[in-house]
Amino acid sequence: MTTTNSFEISEQLDRILPTVQKPGRYTGGELNQVVKDWDQIKTRVALIFPDIYDLGMSNLGLAILYDILNNKPDLLAERAFSPWTDMEDAMRKGNLPMFSLETRHLLSDFDILGFSFPYETLYTNALNMLDLAHIPLFTSERNSSHPLVIAGGHAAFNPEPMHAFIDAFVIGEGEEVILDIVDIYQDWKKSGSSRPTLLESLSIIWGVYVPSLYQAHYYSDGTLSNIEKLVDTAPLPIIKRILPHLPPPVTRFVVPYIDVVHNRLPIEIMRGCTRGCRFCHAGMITRPVRERPVDEIIGAIEQAHALTGYEEVGLLSLSSSDYTQILDLVQKIDKRFDNSHLAVSLPSLRIESFSVELMDALNKSKRGGFTLAPEAATERMREIINKPLSNDQLLDTARAIFDRGWTKIKLYFMIGHPSETIEDVLAISDLCKAVLREGKQRVGNRVQVTAGVSTFIPKPHTPFQWVPCDTFEQIKEKQALLKRTLRGKGLKLKWNAPEDTMLESSLSRGDRRLSEVVLEAWKRGARFDAWKEHFRYDIWLESFQAAGLDPAFYTHRQRSIDETLPWDHIDSAVRKKFLTEDYLWSKNGKTRIDCRERCFACGILPTFADLRRNFPGDIWQCPEVKSKRIPTKEILTNVKVPG
Ligand code: SF4
Repeated sequence: MTTTNSFEISEQLDRILPTVQKPGRYTGGELNQVVKDWDQIKTRVALIFPDIYDLGMSNLGLAILYDILNNKPDLLAERAFSPWTDMEDAMRKGNLPMFSLETRHLLSDFDILGFSFPYETLYTNALNMLDLAHIPLFTSERNSSHPLVIAGGHAAFNPEPMHAFIDAFVIGEGEEVILDIVDIYQDWKKSGSSRPTLLESLSIIWGVYVPSLYQAHYYSDGTLSNIEKLVDTAPLPIIKRILPHLPPPVTRFVVPYIDVVHNRLPIEIMRGCTRGCRFCHAGMITRPVRERPVDEIIGAIEQAHALTGYEEVGLLSLSSSDYTQILDLVQKIDKRFDNSHLAVSLPSLRIESFSVELMDALNKSKRGGFTLAPEAATERMREIINKPLSNDQLLDTARAIFDRGWTKIKLYFMIGHPSETIEDVLAISDLCKAVLREGKQRVGNRVQVTAGVSTFIPKPHTPFQWVPCDTFEQIKEKQALLKRTLRGKGLKLKWNAPEDTMLESSLSRGDRRLSEVVLEAWKRGARFDAWKEHFRYDIWLESFQAAGLDPAFYTHRQRSIDETLPWDHIDSAVRKKFLTEDYLWSKNGKTRIDCRERCFACGILPTFADLRRNFPGDIWQCPEVKSKRIPTKEILTNVKVPG
């Protein structure tokens, strides 16, 4: 018999939890969790991270939405995470469906389920969770009695491989759009109209994509011909949602009882990036750059520190050292929390903007070592990827780090960049050895240089969206070279399995036909594809074959510039024309400077001109739009589909 209410779920958990690893993943009850009276609430949302609790609890997006929804008196948000395989077995054996942590309600009892897709290798887990929740996997099989299933996150910028399973995708920033979705949902509930009516109403919200309202057509060679909208009101393209300015940061974080990936306060100081690295998906899709004021950040840290007791604050952004007031901010935090033992971490530093003064300011609190990401080891290659930087600059930074007594440096590289040669790969070993030599001279034999070498995966909405990914054999050969040459005392090499690269590469540039592959893979047992111990590439190869598709079509094919790409109808506001030009520039090693110094007209400003005009000043790092102001209320109404 299937368990159906919170009391029965609790009874079942009492029996199951002593038999599984880390029961704290499934209990809830942490400091700052929000429990509301279920029966008094109009709309209930389950926020779902389709991987384990230990990872999901470090996801800032989930924490933000949890806070926003729970701040509304008529809404509640609860959390759910993927059960680890031992828990899944126990749940299936005991007929215990997926439940939420806060009040232990079945996911099927919620009004809205919101999945977070920061990366593509979570897709089979999402299907698994729907199945464990006894909710039909296909959007076409759900009716008004089922929850509305939505999803967002960076991977949603190419939603097509999951189009068959998700009712509506959020494209872009979720803070405002989640409340728009709830509003429409509440109106629909009151009206008693059909589920298709709900989906059509959702589709006209700025930043919402309802895939069932569109149809894909293909040419006989398998490339996409066009995306056709099936109802007149559905927008085409679907423009991403952005916030004109960032609201104050979340301060009431749920504090886990068990160790999670990041045991720290995550405070986002800036969103977006203007550096223009050509491989970087996040850098392209999160434009424009918007900063939070220093005082607002300090105030938020004070509050959050008092509410959580964390001993470390992570100042988050895609490139924290590019925050214009970073030195002032770190010095002020240092002064303000002098007696509180609050360590500051800057998880993403750029070598060019990482000053000696900043290093000194971090000196007191920085634990462990420094991570630098040159991404490529030759200056030629770094020009191609638009991360221009000289080896001398990198070595100067390494010297300054060692001079201050740190002994460990991590260097991130990628192999497989377009036009890479074996010399470019070999240069990774040489550069690491050069950094090691500098370290030895300064800190002696305690020095440790770790090279994290991943493989480049071409991503949608980037200037490299057309290029092939390295083949399995090419990756193997390059990794073997590094394993042979990058060894010795003080050197460590880490790399990704080529199979992981192949899967992510096919899903990230996949089209609608990959829904069938994802489903097939899940049916054949694929779960936790981002986990070495569970990932089964053979299952994926069989699933591609079963669907009659060739993975190489998605991974290794050079696309032509005029090909219609499966994500072209999703508008990141960085225009294809700009991406094309940037791709062609890369072929000549032509670089662009940080666009805060000179705007390259990527498309952000024309798309969001009205918003920019109404939010003048330096909150945005894009140039001002100088023409008549329009009342904000009017813009936010009209901007539902800007342009
Ligand atoms: S509009 Fe100009 S300044 Fe703004 S992100 Fe694009 S290129 Fe950079």
